Amino acid sequence: MARNFSAQLEKKKHAQYFKRILQVMPSQMAQYDSNRVMFAFFAVSGLDILDSLDVLNESEKLSAIEWIYRLQVTDAGIRSGFQASIMLPDDTPHYQCGYLPMTYTALATLLTLGDDLKRVNKKSILEGMRACQNPNGCFMAMITESESDMRFLYCACCVSAILNDWSGMNKTTAIDYIVKSISYDGAMGQGPGLESHGGSTFCAVASLYLMNELHNVLSEEQINKLRRWCLMRQNSGFQGRPGKPSDTCYSFWVGATLHMLDAGHFIDPDENRKFILSTQDASIGGFAKFYDTRADPMHTYLGLCGLSLMGEPGLLPMNAALNVSNRVYKHLKEIHKKWKTN
Ligand SMILES: [Zn+2]
Repeated sequence: MARNFSAQLEKKKHAQYFKRILQVMPSQMAQYDSNRVMFAFFAVSGLDILDSLDVLNESEKLSAIEWIYRLQVTDAGIRSGFQASIMLPDDTPHYQCGYLPMTYTALATLLTLGDDLKRVNKKSILEGMRACQNPNGCFMAMITESESDMRFLYCACCVSAILNDWSGMNKTTAIDYIVKSISYDGAMGQGPGLESHGGSTFCAVASLYLMNELHNVLSEEQINKLRRWCLMRQNSGFQGRPGKPSDTCYSFWVGATLHMLDAGHFIDPDENRKFILSTQDASIGGFAKFYDTRADPMHTYLGLCGLSLMGEPGLLPMNAALNVSNRVYKHLKEIHKKWKTN
């Protein structure tokens, strides 16, 4: 499907696109029901980056907050956290289980909606998270499955940073896992011995950044090698790996990594912007992976984030490591201050 190309960012259309996502999941995404929190995060945080949260009225915001809190599984020991869906009946509590990506995105969405996290059971979440860390330092997505890689380690770092409490993870082994995942080319894979990738490199660098350990763990030489690897990923937009075509989401994954490495100013912003806008659906809103594919919530959100990192007028600036706007990050810091004085 050829896209109606526009060199202009269609802010209003993207805001309407996200609003539709929140109201009703498009039918072609029905199979993603278990990822509703993730889509809610893309839509709510996307509206925030667009500085358009006011397309939601107060009662819509409050009902979204209530819905997210209903996903919190508390006092369930190692199964605590936010679960993916409330489709499970209430009389099957033993099936309810926190899922790290949902815990992170649920907390980030609550913050973006202006919630003060008062109803978050920190102790319980940290207990569930701690149980998901493997002896090698990496994290499983949830206690009942064995999948573990850099993505879930990053989610655990985000949860720790949001809760301002790192007691849910062994930082030493987590750092060790990240260091062992550095490939010969200087970037990071999903785990030791795996190929470097823009997504896992973001997760690894952001994890170190959130731990405030980036410059303690990596030498100047390693940082320079990483910067070079990331800069080499730009052809027009950014690719995730050598030899792959540009894809909208890597304008964020790789762009944000360069931002954390203080090298965001070395990219070619005009080419990157041109690529991102070539994937924009100027008729109904949204961004796609490539110019000839259908827009989806993740690429719409990450395309906007990629533009925000380059200072696109009309978009809120963002915190690259936590993947939320600076406005939300400021709100979080205020909450941390209150926690300290209480
Ligand atoms: Zn992508």
